[in-house]
Amino acid sequence: MNDAIPSLEQLHAIGAAQQPTYDDPAALAAAVDRLRTLPPLVFAGECDELKEKVAAASRGEAFILQGGDCAETFAGATADNTRNKLRVLLQMAVVLTYAASVPVIKVGRLAGQYAKPRSKDTETRDGVTLPAYRGDAVNGYDFTPESRIPDPQRLLEVYHSSASTLNLVRAFTTGGYADLRQVHAWNSEFVRNSPVGAKYEAVAAEIERALTFMKAIGADPDEFHRVDFYSSHEALLMEYEHAMTRIDSRTDQPYNVSGHFVWIGERTRQLDGAHVEYFRHLRNPIGCKLGPTATPDDALALAHRLNPENEPGRLTFITRFGAGKIRDGLPGLVEKVTAEGVDVAWICDPMHGNTFEASTGYKTRRFEDVLDEVQGFFDVHRALGTVPAGILVENTGDDVTEIIGGGEELDETSLGNRYESVVDPRLNRVQSLEMAFLVAEMLRK
Ligand code: PEP
Ligand code: MN
Repeated sequence: MNDAIPSLEQLHAIGAAQQPTYDDPAALAAAVDRLRTLPPLVFAGECDELKEKVAAASRGEAFILQGGDCAETFAGATADNTRNKLRVLLQMAVVLTYAASVPVIKVGRLAGQYAKPRSKDTETRDGVTLPAYRGDAVNGYDFTPESRIPDPQRLLEVYHSSASTLNLVRAFTTGGYADLRQVHAWNSEFVRNSPVGAKYEAVAAEIERALTFMKAIGADPDEFHRVDFYSSHEALLMEYEHAMTRIDSRTDQPYNVSGHFVWIGERTRQLDGAHVEYFRHLRNPIGCKLGPTATPDDALALAHRLNPENEPGRLTFITRFGAGKIRDGLPGLVEKVTAEGVDVAWICDPMHGNTFEASTGYKTRRFEDVLDEVQGFFDVHRALGTVPAGILVENTGDDVTEIIGGGEELDETSLGNRYESVVDPRLNRVQSLEMAFLVAEMLRK
């Protein structure tokens, strides 16, 4: 099948974009050695299971909901935060499942999303220029020279934070919290009092009635009491990802065992780059972002290289064109890839092509642009007879003010009220739920 995974040295020799420069090679090597001895965070068998589900989504038999922070932080890996993120994804999934009658595959940008590619290597504030923040996996967010120095110890902290987050997620999803009978309880006071919260209550009440009926006739399947939830992150840092790549004893094949699904970012998808070379060996389900500069030939070449055996569910293209570009840009890609018989799942990331800086200096997005890109994505696929397989959003379970618009009509001046993201702006709880209802309508048609 695949030849052996290249060594870290070979990957660096090929050239990996967006890597930190560590100034203590011995400390880096020690951290990598330690990582190599630590147990897997996920089982290869779970990755295979997700791969089959992604294949189902690519055939239109399921829908992928991928969501979470742009960048997780170590300080943010608390029980409350994790529960809130999980809860909003469960609520969105219930809305999508109920309103569109399609199984929803739940994937968190969670338990590993700690490394960020940056468009600029430096950041300037008030005339002071320092290295850019590259995610908690690399350096600190504080704007001081010391904090911005890449620290290899952070790679170990990524592992431990991911492990504790995933442990809690597994406890929540199998231990009763994600039980469908909790569908009402997921709606907090705050959301319940918003119009979309009331709409959710109505759905929850119908689900509850259906559950009561099912129970009365003696049907109480396991699926009512637990959910399958998968972790995902952008596999950016060669040291970390390589150390977390292991040969599965069942199949003798390499898997990245730091998350179920890993993806290649828009800035690291060079066909001859180290990321593509590394990813092509993995047996996990993998993603590759495609932005407005990607040509149909680029997409085809990436698909051939990343998934030469055309295995269903293995490759997902996550498109992120921007609302103004998707209707013109996406059809060429989909047509070419489809005409060549390439098996791929198409996911819409309506976030990264719609970012701009508000007059108040905050990085933001407009809710209407986000929605419009998803609509464009559905329109293009419907017109071509291909399948919209899912969405990827940046969102949070908290009531942050990072994205403009939505039912609460947040405006530029409200952004400062509760802006907590360390990188990109996220949909808050109400906006996430609104989005789920609107996407459910698109799915139903
Ligand atoms: C991201 O998903 O946070 C991201 C950096 O996206 P992209 O690679 O598409 O810019
Ligand atoms: Mn982002």
